[in-house]
Amino acid sequence: MKALTYQGVGEVKVIEVPKPAIKRPDEVLVRITLNAICGSDLHAYHGRVPMSAGELLGHEFVGVVEEAGSAVNRFKKGDRVVTSFFIACGHCALCRKGNFNECVNLETFGFGAVLGSLGGGQSEYVVVPLADSSMELIPDEVSDEQAVFVGDILSTGLFAAERAEIRYGDTVAIIGAGPVGLMAAMCAQLFGPARVFIVDVVDSRLELAQELGAIPINSSKLNPIEAILERTGGVGADSSIEAVGATATVDIAMRCVRGGGTVSVVGVPAEFTADFPYYLFWEKALTFRSGRCNVQRYMRPLLDLIAAGRLHPEKIISHRMKLADAEEAYKLFDARKATKIVLTP
Ligand SMILES: [Zn+2]
Ligand SMILES: [Zn+2]
Repeated sequence: MKALTYQGVGEVKVIEVPKPAIKRPDEVLVRITLNAICGSDLHAYHGRVPMSAGELLGHEFVGVVEEAGSAVNRFKKGDRVVTSFFIACGHCALCRKGNFNECVNLETFGFGAVLGSLGGGQSEYVVVPLADSSMELIPDEVSDEQAVFVGDILSTGLFAAERAEIRYGDTVAIIGAGPVGLMAAMCAQLFGPARVFIVDVVDSRLELAQELGAIPINSSKLNPIEAILERTGGVGADSSIEAVGATATVDIAMRCVRGGGTVSVVGVPAEFTADFPYYLFWEKALTFRSGRCNVQRYMRPLLDLIAAGRLHPEKIISHRMKLADAEEAYKLFDARKATKIVLTP
């Protein structure tokens, strides 16, 4: 089969690799019908994840079950499915508490041996282990383009918005209008805020955010903290969502909220440590939340919301390309010339 592989820093290539096969009874083989390039793929692309040449990339994908192992209860051949970007066992102590994102058996697709030796979603086939606790059935009325983000960025948007504790009438500030920030802007609306500000430097992303109901702030032209304070009578937003993962954007998220507010950080950190303004958090009685999305908890309600016409995640797709052109797609996405790219085999 054809698959996109990591070849070295800044270098990816579509090559022929062996088609994977199920080995354990809890696994399914999925024929991929659509996949997407995620911001965190760029961490691998830039060598921030220690991958070896030839390892497969991609963790956002949907497809059709081609074969299900004997212990798989929820899925059968022919089912359309979306998979979380990580597998969780469903039976460890943390899964049983509902924290699938902290599963002791967690492994991630598309980042090579370092994150679990699973296959990659930017390919024609992938084996999904622990399928019963890692996938969801896609309703007939939901298209592949709508479902493909449910296993990663859309779940992350909802996780971010829920953990920001948005209440009706609130003012929310989202830092970053990339794919995750845009999903957070959509999901924030589910909680009834009065206003959602969104901060970025790329005009095309801010325009799209505005179409989704957010109020754009271009931080290359305005100081975003001052702009948010000014528009909230000097007090700040009720909560902020950070969707980039850079120290500078986390800092904006921490400094643009009011006393008693909540900071919800979901951007994958580009640094391991940074200064934390502990006194500010004490003085303003702030809450700091962060983490990898608990995808398995959000997939079902999100599919129901899409099926009901209340969420339109496909609106952020800017480029529809072929898997064979993935090399070019990575270049476009890395240069921020594409908001979100989906690839068909
Ligand atoms: Zn991702
Ligand atoms: Zn577990």
